[in-house]
Amino acid sequence: MRCCKPGCIIGAQKRTTAALECDEVRAENAVDTIMKIQLTADALRSDLARRVQEMSGEDPLACYQCGKCSAGCPSAAFMDQLPNQIIRLLQLGSVAEALRSDTIWYCAACQTCYARCPKGVDLPRLMEALRELALQELGDQVDVAKIDAGELARLPQQAFVAGFRKYTG
Ligand code: SF4
Ligand code: SF4
Repeated sequence: MRCCKPGCIIGAQKRTTAALECDEVRAENAVDTIMKIQLTADALRSDLARRVQEMSGEDPLACYQCGKCSAGCPSAAFMDQLPNQIIRLLQLGSVAEALRSDTIWYCAACQTCYARCPKGVDLPRLMEALRELALQELGDQVDVAKIDAGELARLPQQAFVAGFRKYTG
């Protein structure tokens, strides 16, 4: 993060509250992180987009991006894309981007978003379809052989993971 103006003392100080942040700096940094997506008919009608809809039984276009799902999601703090942003990627035909997101693996299928959604979008089903598609298209996401013994002892039991994977597909 850089400061916006010569002599600005805010940039030189350790920020202790969000209120201290310079609006110009925040706006400029936000522009830096905007992702550009080229909208094409081919992407919107891609094989991946069709498979997500078929596997989930859900139409991402039903979502009007109110954000209530993300506001109530207990895993949102760990996700690289918020749940409504995953749906936005699907709406824009960027399915491959959604498949690469950590978010689909942090989703705990808790159904909170579905209960909050004013449009009745079953987001957990979309997340499940994306997980299944990611395994089909990208292969295993974790190589157990590369996890050290200490870390492995702290991870969920194999039976739990196996159960989750069975649910996944
Ligand atoms: S709550 Fe429903 S309509 Fe609102 S952003 Fe989430 S999925 Fe879309
Ligand atoms: S089902 Fe997944 S995306 Fe929806 S609120 Fe729960 S953890 Fe978040």
